[in-house]
Amino acid sequence: MPELPEAEVVARQIRARLLGARLREVWIGRADIVREGYSTVAWYRGATLQSVERFGKSIVLGFAKAQAGRYVVAELGMTGLLLFQSARTKHPRHTHVRFSFEGASEPELRYWNPRRFGRLSLLDKTGLERYVARRFGLDPLSASQQDFVRLLQGRRGRLKSLLMHQQVVAGIGNIYANEILFRAGLHPHVQVRRLSVGRMEKLYRIMREVLHEAIACGGSSVRDFLSPDGTEGQYKRRHLVYGREGQPCLHHCGGIIQRFQGERSAYFCPRCQSLRSTK
Ligand SMILES: [Zn+2]
Repeated sequence: MPELPEAEVVARQIRARLLGARLREVWIGRADIVREGYSTVAWYRGATLQSVERFGKSIVLGFAKAQAGRYVVAELGMTGLLLFQSARTKHPRHTHVRFSFEGASEPELRYWNPRRFGRLSLLDKTGLERYVARRFGLDPLSASQQDFVRLLQGRRGRLKSLLMHQQVVAGIGNIYANEILFRAGLHPHVQVRRLSVGRMEKLYRIMREVLHEAIACGGSSVRDFLSPDGTEGQYKRRHLVYGREGQPCLHHCGGIIQRFQGERSAYFCPRCQSLRSTK
């Protein structure tokens, strides 16, 4: 499932390719793909793409027309993709939304999702603010170390669940939570309140290193993720624990990667990630 790095790669590619382009038409194949604001779709015709942002795992396209602004929020869900495709190519099955832009050189931006867990919302500024406030906690890439430590200090519970809780830390899902915890030497089930400030600071640095490195690699293509230009993310090759159950630890500690079955599986090395290691 696309997480923060994949969403960031998508946002950056759309920004580079389509910022400033004028929308000719929005075609919505099925109304139930739009969570909110379906009746406002006509407004977007002729509007200019003014901003492309990422909040958590969502991509937010900001449009402007005659001093007014509206937004399209795209959630990719488990299997959703936003793809650049030529308007001349027939859209593949499961293409639910198409944005066509003026100018022959501009591709269509197509929202494709075979499993329809993702959604689009068409929102005004107030609607967007409400959406962001309701869903997203601290952003790992823009938050300061101090903000991150303060956030953890005010929390209870297991560390991995907390990192994946979108209203606490936005954008981290199962893949990156596992990779970050392994590199930080922290057990997925460690209680947050047992961590020293030093460990929290180290976790902050490693979290950002992992996310930035994954963005630079174009993300991880685990379940068929593709960026808008159709390329696969290469970070999967650098996964140290995710999907490596039963294989030797890559830190050469002699440990074997284990997997806990839970709501989401935790992959970890029992030697490198001791529950007692918190100081
Ligand atoms: Zn190990």
